Amino acid sequence: MDQLIPIASKLQDVLGAVGQNTQLDLPQIVVVGGQSSGKSSVLEGIVGRSFLPRGTGIVTRRPLVLTLVNTRTPGEQTDEYGENQDPNHVMAAGDDEKGGPEWGEFLHMPGRKFHSFQQIRQEIVRETDRLTGNNNGISSDPISLKIFSPNVLALTLVDLPGMTKVPVGDQPENIEEQIHEMILEFISNPNAIILAVTAANTDIANSDALQLAKAADPYGNRTIGVLTKLDLMDPGTDAADVLLNRVYPLRRGYIAVVNRGQKDINEDLSIRDGLRKEEIFFKNHPVYATDRNLVTKCGTKILAKTLNNVLMHHIRDVLPDVKNRISTMMLDVQTELDALGSPGQQSRNTMGGTLLGLLSKFATNFGSIIDGKGGELNNTEGEAKNLALVELFGGARINYIFNEIFAASLMTVGPFDGLTDDEVRTTITNAMGTRRALFVPEIAFDILVRRQIARLESPGIECVDLVYEELQRIASQSEPKELVRFPNLKERMVDVVSSLLKRCMGPTQMMVQNLVKVELAYINTSHPDFIGGARAVAAVTNRQANLESRRAAELPDSSAETPVSTANSHYFNTDDDDEGEPTPYNGNNGGGIMSFIFRGKSTPLQDRSKPGGPPTVVHLPSVPANMKQTDVPPTDRELSEMQVIKSLIESYFKVVRKTFIDMVPKTIMFFLVNHVKDAMQNELVSELYRESEVPSLMKEAEDVAQRRQNCEEMKDLLGKALEIVNEVRDFNTFSQVE
Ligand code: GDP
Ligand code: MG
Repeated sequence: MDQLIPIASKLQDVLGAVGQNTQLDLPQIVVVGGQSSGKSSVLEGIVGRSFLPRGTGIVTRRPLVLTLVNTRTPGEQTDEYGENQDPNHVMAAGDDEKGGPEWGEFLHMPGRKFHSFQQIRQEIVRETDRLTGNNNGISSDPISLKIFSPNVLALTLVDLPGMTKVPVGDQPENIEEQIHEMILEFISNPNAIILAVTAANTDIANSDALQLAKAADPYGNRTIGVLTKLDLMDPGTDAADVLLNRVYPLRRGYIAVVNRGQKDINEDLSIRDGLRKEEIFFKNHPVYATDRNLVTKCGTKILAKTLNNVLMHHIRDVLPDVKNRISTMMLDVQTELDALGSPGQQSRNTMGGTLLGLLSKFATNFGSIIDGKGGELNNTEGEAKNLALVELFGGARINYIFNEIFAASLMTVGPFDGLTDDEVRTTITNAMGTRRALFVPEIAFDILVRRQIARLESPGIECVDLVYEELQRIASQSEPKELVRFPNLKERMVDVVSSLLKRCMGPTQMMVQNLVKVELAYINTSHPDFIGGARAVAAVTNRQANLESRRAAELPDSSAETPVSTANSHYFNTDDDDEGEPTPYNGNNGGGIMSFIFRGKSTPLQDRSKPGGPPTVVHLPSVPANMKQTDVPPTDRELSEMQVIKSLIESYFKVVRKTFIDMVPKTIMFFLVNHVKDAMQNELVSELYRESEVPSLMKEAEDVAQRRQNCEEMKDLLGKALEIVNEVRDFNTFSQVE
């Protein structure tokens, strides 16, 4: 059992040197109890040093968090440690120094080393008074003290103010409540071991310490009862019933101690002598020395052993986890060491070989990641390997860009995006020029459909950009780990790869632009998927016929003419209607500008045919600078034309969009992805493998030697840590105290 403390200490040392995340989280030991029950004395007995203020009344008025820091360097001989370590104490017993300097440091006075425990005690008093005044005030703000010593186990101990009921001095009315809260805060921590201190000369049934401990730790898993002042019990009485767990049973039972009394302290009795005195007290006691069950429950020594026991259980519980962490670190260090290579290979030949190896490894990695074998690569970062489980990786990301980004957004581009009906109508009219076409003007379709097809170019170019970025990402994932050794090479490699990528960008972009140009070069109206003029017209006519018959059915009493045919006849009969019936030039009959012009032409003719009347000179209004088709509502004929054109555009646009969605990824794959992939190795070798450049490219980074050494040391440490872990694990006779 006693050997475990040095082992655990060694383990802590090694783990401390290895790094933060392997540190053994040892429990905090927290003392609670009534005022002057002997809490501070118990802690001192455990630590083996007198440095806490003790006395009557409320002496501890702020929590004291005491961290023991072991200052032994892991390199020191471990056997020696066993000698230095007094097994009875977590900290070596005796006030005399052994094995190196010891000192204390306060958090509130960083850097200042206290070399005498007397000074430490004085500073605790001063710092307590500073915050709480010297009239018995209390504060929950802890004082932090670190004791550095080669002879301590890295533990944290907490001394708390004692419980009190009646406020004295500057204490507030609710002093009891305040202290309770403060104590609960500390002992609720599941990592706290509670030492519930009760003076043996008081009634255990009234022990506040036990009550509070029960509140924080109802099953008593981490509570140890401590009875103090057995020497002050009335003659003829003893604590046997309590110690035998018969009065207020605790799962982990009780331990009795006798600390130095006030008189001892006044007489400067050393801790060591105090412990001797305690031993004599129990040895000569008529009750405690005779009952075998009691002998194992008496003495500070036993308390220390019990604590050690609890600590060992704790250590054993966390050991498998610690071991896992060490093993993982070991693997990482080994990987890094492999990457750093051995320092020996510096001849020109082997350098060239290594260079070629690295270049080809990079090219292979690059290809593998694109082809989807990236998840199994050994030499890609562990991170990337893990990511492959939750995220798309490498080539799969390119595929995602093609389908989920490019194709999906093209599908949302409609045939008439950015094209209004008015624009369609105006284009149709403009396409006809001066004369009304008899049939739907094809040229309007041609103009409009080209305009819509041209809109496809920019998403195509953007898709090229996205894949380009992806390839850059893949390139950085393809770097072999060993590259960290050769920063020159790494830099040049990055240059070569990005210039290769850039070089392929031009042709790819041009090809995507050409895909659009090719479409624009020939509007293939015989494409099998294209609706075609005849069908478009038929569809529109059908739709109109349906509409008419439906309207006719709805309005049986109205004139035989449906609104559509009325409008049509109006459109076609304008000339007849106007005969002999001059109307103002307001164009209210749907003729608009056209009819205005027509009338303007007919009126003077009419006038001339009527000789006898005084000739009136008719002036034309001035021609508007901007003539807009939309100044008048569309005629029915226009409406049908628009519908025909639109259905043609829609059909043809869909044909082209489908082709484009298909062709852009193929283009990018051919001109960019596959090209880069295939050219990579040659490019790297031809750009970088030159006799004269090999030595400079293969120059190791300045810090490589240092890093290699660090890794070696770390590997050693980890190896030691593993050994110790196994030692502790194999030490499985965790005997209870004696
Ligand atoms: P705390 O207030 O609970 O921290 O108690 P202290 O450790 O300050 O002790 C209060 C007083 O009781 C001091 O004068 C100690 O010397 C004294 N004392 C503590 N434990 C014992 C003990 O076991 N026996 C005797 N005789 N005195 C003790
Ligand atoms: Mg105290």
